[in-house]
Amino acid sequence: MASTAATRSLADIPTLAQLYRSAGHRHVSSSTSDFPPSAAINARVGLVRGDITKLRLDAIVNAANKSLCGGGGVDGAIHRAAGPDLLTECRQLGGCPAGEARITRGYRLPAKHVVHTVGPIYDHADPQRSERLLRSCYEESLKLADTSGVKSLAFSGISTGVYGYPSTDAAQVACETVRKYLDRDISALERVVFVTFEQKEVDAYAEMLP
Ligand code: ADP
Repeated sequence: MASTAATRSLADIPTLAQLYRSAGHRHVSSSTSDFPPSAAINARVGLVRGDITKLRLDAIVNAANKSLCGGGGVDGAIHRAAGPDLLTECRQLGGCPAGEARITRGYRLPAKHVVHTVGPIYDHADPQRSERLLRSCYEESLKLADTSGVKSLAFSGISTGVYGYPSTDAAQVACETVRKYLDRDISALERVVFVTFEQKEVDAYAEMLP
């Protein structure tokens, strides 16, 4: 069984609205974003630093590889915590191309489901293609979670580990895509959480969400 000692539920994860309140911010404006501040969005987006495998939400998003057979980084951590039944289900999916997403059960994880998305390996020669694929990862994960009845969803960084995507650029893509998605009337997602793990991600989100 995954350890439950350090699991965090939705109530333990601050929303941006709560973070801004506790920091004493009245008005929030981001110079790096085209989106105007929105109190409604700030109440639906959470930000937390830690291990995504400890989150007791409807679903967590895994930065998987094309085989969906596990690997290092967050993928390895998710497979270790979920146990071998996750690998069995993933094997039946027959892989996943970059930019797409698949959903499985969470098995021994506190999260009920895992959305597996395959990020791009960052291509310094073609950053636009990398960005298109990363946007697609977030978009497809949100759509798949939403249509699967997921109400609370947490993202780890996608492609920001061994796949080499610069964290600040990735945080911008993540924030923009989630904002656009939650702005749509059809979205029934109640909470989307960004999970930071390494200091570079903490810094990247601090820049995006000042
Ligand atoms: P990729 O191959 O897509 O780059 P990685 O797993 O190497 O995937 O890294 C993706 C991101 O996941 C990194 O930014 C890393 O800091 C973060 N990460 C690694 N382990 C965890 C974890 N247990 N919980 C949350 N995030 C994690």
